Amino acid sequence: MKSGVVEVRKKHPKIRKDDKVIVLAGKERGKIGTVLKVDPEKERVIIEKVNMVKKHAKASTKTAQGGIIEKEAPLNISDVMIVCNKCAEPTRIGKRILEDGSKIRVCKKCGEPMDD
Ligand SMILES: [Zn+2]
Repeated sequence: MKSGVVEVRKKHPKIRKDDKVIVLAGKERGKIGTVLKVDPEKERVIIEKVNMVKKHAKASTKTAQGGIIEKEAPLNISDVMIVCNKCAEPTRIGKRILEDGSKIRVCKKCGEPMDD
């Protein structure tokens, strides 16, 4: 009998807020932006100034004016790839374990650490 623990498959746990990513699919393909938010449960990311959608905003007592506002819509996390800030190439994230046991993310292309 297996335990009732459900194994959560995290396919893309490595993309984080403030990472630079490139869009690989859809109408925004080729665009590069900074990750504003990661939703690992829904496997979605919001990227600054990418996949903008127009939304109607109602005028209310809090907002001075109504009308149309532009807002980032989430993208599927599998449709984006991290861009290395060292070699500026879209890359996969590798993992390196330091002597003190801590793990860091490294670029699989140039081998440089992805986090400062
Ligand atoms: Zn690199």
